[in-house]
Amino acid sequence: MLIVQKYGGSSLANASLICAAARRVTGLARQGAQVVVVVSAQGDTTDELLEKAGFVNEAGSAREMDMYLSCGEQLSAALLAMAIGGQSWPAVSLTGWQAGIETDSTHQNARILGLCNGRIRQELEQGRIVVVTGFQGVNGKGDITTLGRGGSDTTAVALAAFLKADLCQIFTDVDGVYDRDPRRYPDAVRFSRISYDNMLRLIQDGAQVLHDRSVELARDYQIPVEVLSAFTGLPGTVVGP
Ligand code: ADP
Ligand code: ASP
Ligand code: MG
Repeated sequence: MLIVQKYGGSSLANASLICAAARRVTGLARQGAQVVVVVSAQGDTTDELLEKAGFVNEAGSAREMDMYLSCGEQLSAALLAMAIGGQSWPAVSLTGWQAGIETDSTHQNARILGLCNGRIRQELEQGRIVVVTGFQGVNGKGDITTLGRGGSDTTAVALAAFLKADLCQIFTDVDGVYDRDPRRYPDAVRFSRISYDNMLRLIQDGAQVLHDRSVELARDYQIPVEVLSAFTGLPGTVVGP
């Protein structure tokens, strides 16, 4: 059984949340699953990096922005791998390029093309939990690219597709997909299932709970994706056929 889990920024915002994620993935590994964890930058890190970059150059080059913004995910990945080690399970963190996530060259909005090495598989076969930085990859020139805001979801679905995972779960700060943003509309209604096309319509109407390309990829590869709360771990919404 191969499981891909993705944790968003608010689900990793502090040390105790990092440790909670470490306990969850270690629990799965102890039950015999192979686990790939995709992480976002902690909390508001990406926004803070964007603000800092703006102070030195309001229109910094897209290549340098990718070099800079991709660091947020790298910090999360190493921290989570260390937390998993603290749970007495072997783990390794990999950047987009170490994991072989090949993209086109559209800096700040790159598209994933494929996996160009076998590193994740090799690490899984060694019994390690593999923690992969979301939101980033490498282009043909060897430069770091990023996938656009919210792009870690797409990293997770792409890895689930390329590794033929049995399960792809997106952990976030709400307990599923609703007909409207549940933070703004307390009477929003939660779906237990939603089709790819209806999910894409919600995103077009402004629901940023999933990155649009993650849903397109899930649809193209027919991968069911569960969106659920990192705080409760209770069943969420399955985005599927
Ligand atoms: P993460 O950091 O985990 O990637 P995001 O902030 O990208 O989380 O997405 C989760 C947020 O999406 C929720 O906090 C919620 O306010 C917002 N959201 C907007 N529309 C919806 C919707 N229709 N259903 C669920 N959440 C939604
Ligand atoms: N950290 C990136 C962002 O804030 C990617 C992600 O969270 O998915 O957009
Ligand atoms: Mg997101």
